Amino acid sequence: MGFQDRFASEAACLEYLAVSRWPEGFVCPACGGCSAWVLERRHLWECADCHQQTSVTAGTVMHATHTPLRTWFWAAYLVATHHPGISAKQLQRQLGLSRYETAWLILQKLRRAMVAPEREPLRDEVEVDEFWLGGYEEGLKGSRQHGKKALVGAAIEVRGAGSGRLRLAMLANSRATTLEAFTQTTTAPGSIVHTDGLNSYNGLAKLGYDHRQRKQAGAAPGEQLLPRAHRAISNLKAWMHGTHRGVSNQHLPIYLDEYVFRHNRRGTPMAAFQTLLGLGAIHDPTTYAQITHHAA
Ligand SMILES: [Zn+2]
Repeated sequence: MGFQDRFASEAACLEYLAVSRWPEGFVCPACGGCSAWVLERRHLWECADCHQQTSVTAGTVMHATHTPLRTWFWAAYLVATHHPGISAKQLQRQLGLSRYETAWLILQKLRRAMVAPEREPLRDEVEVDEFWLGGYEEGLKGSRQHGKKALVGAAIEVRGAGSGRLRLAMLANSRATTLEAFTQTTTAPGSIVHTDGLNSYNGLAKLGYDHRQRKQAGAAPGEQLLPRAHRAISNLKAWMHGTHRGVSNQHLPIYLDEYVFRHNRRGTPMAAFQTLLGLGAIHDPTTYAQITHHAA
């Protein structure tokens, strides 16, 4: 069953929110009672014993909304699965909304869940690199300055031939203290860290990393020293250039967070969907197996 078929009604969305909140069935937060009746229009479960009312949208992005839940569900699913990121205009068309402002507002609210939710440090084996981003404005070509470009640090896990989780952050400069701090905030001590030959990385071994430094001079012609970091960076640049031309450095962190959010959840669209709606905050995230089982 497709996503839209499964969440075609308000009742189906409410049922899903209730299951997310009470995976073992309704439990009244006031008295522990296990039976309730549903006030569907107000998104409330009323305890049959003590009459305490609990909102199933409390703590989620949908709380006190006038927009139908099925619109929110479909919006979150589109934002979670659309690669590259979806624009408000595209979202308006997909959701069939008459007002652009509604689509814009939904998108802004869903995007808030993408802001630096990453906490667990990268581990085992990581590529760390830094690069210039932005400065797409006309007239900067051939300039020896970096113009309005921003320096960005990238750290990405090595997972066999592929890549694991990604972290991106704006950097003030490429000095040793800055790159060491970036590595320490993103990567667990003891990990293998691959970098290029930039001197600023020379102190990583002293900080407890298994530092593997390679210089371009020692590489085969055309060989990428840090292939996973380079792939992530070039995809990010293509996305920024195509969709977000002229983003100011002030707003850049939001786009970096969004890119990281998508990258790190590219294999788990339903987990991304739950995070966007704010369902993770009310309960431990439901596993993919639980969801697919429930959907079956
Ligand atoms: Zn009760």
